[in-house]
Amino acid sequence: MPVQSPSPDGAVRRRGVAADEVRHHNLSVVLQRLHAAGPMTRSQLAAATGLSRSTIADLVGDLSAFGLVAEGPGRTPSGPGRPSPEVRCRPEGAVVLALEFAVDFLAVATVGLGGHVFDRRRTARPRQRRLPDRVVADAALLAEPLLAALPADHRLAGVGVAVAGITRRSDGLVHLAPNLGWRDAPLGELLRAQLGEQRIVVANEADLGALAEHRRGVRPGVRNLVYVSGEVGIGAGVIVDGEPLLGAAGYAGEAGHTLINPAGRRCGCGATGCWETEAGEAALLRHAGSGVTPTGLASLDALGARAAVGEKAVLTAMAEVGRWLGIGVGNLINLFNPEVVVLGGLYHRFFPYLEAAVMRAARTRALAAPWEQVTIAPSRLGADAALVGAAELALTPTIADPGGAGRPPVFRS
Ligand SMILES: [Zn+2]
Repeated sequence: MPVQSPSPDGAVRRRGVAADEVRHHNLSVVLQRLHAAGPMTRSQLAAATGLSRSTIADLVGDLSAFGLVAEGPGRTPSGPGRPSPEVRCRPEGAVVLALEFAVDFLAVATVGLGGHVFDRRRTARPRQRRLPDRVVADAALLAEPLLAALPADHRLAGVGVAVAGITRRSDGLVHLAPNLGWRDAPLGELLRAQLGEQRIVVANEADLGALAEHRRGVRPGVRNLVYVSGEVGIGAGVIVDGEPLLGAAGYAGEAGHTLINPAGRRCGCGATGCWETEAGEAALLRHAGSGVTPTGLASLDALGARAAVGEKAVLTAMAEVGRWLGIGVGNLINLFNPEVVVLGGLYHRFFPYLEAAVMRAARTRALAAPWEQVTIAPSRLGADAALVGAAELALTPTIADPGGAGRPPVFRS
């Protein structure tokens, strides 16, 4: 409770501020619930949030006035008669542009509140080092038709960006993206200049994969989750007690560059024997006797085709990479005691071939107590995980502050 001021004017003002803070918080709670869970009746919202029916009615009225939710006919009857009306997010009320800069592709999507995807594009990029400003220009070209297709009343609420690199969230500086060939790339700054949009947030792709899986994945809302993303490199994103583990600046979770084999190979980061040198894409292709084609993705397509017909060399390569993957997963289970470890990217795609070896190695590596509590599962979002996470991150300010800048004032009697 706020301290009351001795001055009557001050007391009123302070009470006013406290009431406004409560309302502000509750608006965010209701919008978050609708965003995560989809349409709900007012009764369901009241039950889910612990707020009274009349408070819910007021909050829904405010959110409607902001253009963020709408009420319409319900889908299922709760008793005799017509179904109760449902409150749902208006995707057009807050639209974000999501971008992903991966080693082998660029992806863009326009995503609205509630997770509605308006459109998306993905394009393979040749595996050659390109300067960040060129790649940013390519991404802007890819995004242009998606943004142009949005009707004028669809409000752009920001841009979320996933990048396969070690990234500072405060300004979007990519310190190191070894597999993109970038060092100290001012990605956030380049995007702000290119897109003419200031509300841009850049984050590591595995951290965003974890966010996406936490909100919309295998077990939405699970409190402790580790997401392991396999591409050219390995990234890990960690959710601890419902919150992302970022470290001091957003660099936490670089599990791909933890030591797993002191006798291993040289890694792109400069060290030797990193996890990704034993369990990343290059290791898989090497064990399978495959070369890397110029696009990278084609190499994996070819590998998948060979695995599908049961080629022994490929299945053996999957088992070997699965073993190293499982050892690393076992380490993460010991470190974080997650309820679920989600395998994404490459590991999602080839999960059926990797699963047995991963489970065996992880079970051997993990301590008995955390092992009993964990499920290891392939990603539900697959190749879209980081892009979904980028959209979720860009929508976060709107959900945290539904009455914030850019939304019309609410007029009260
Ligand atoms: Zn490394």
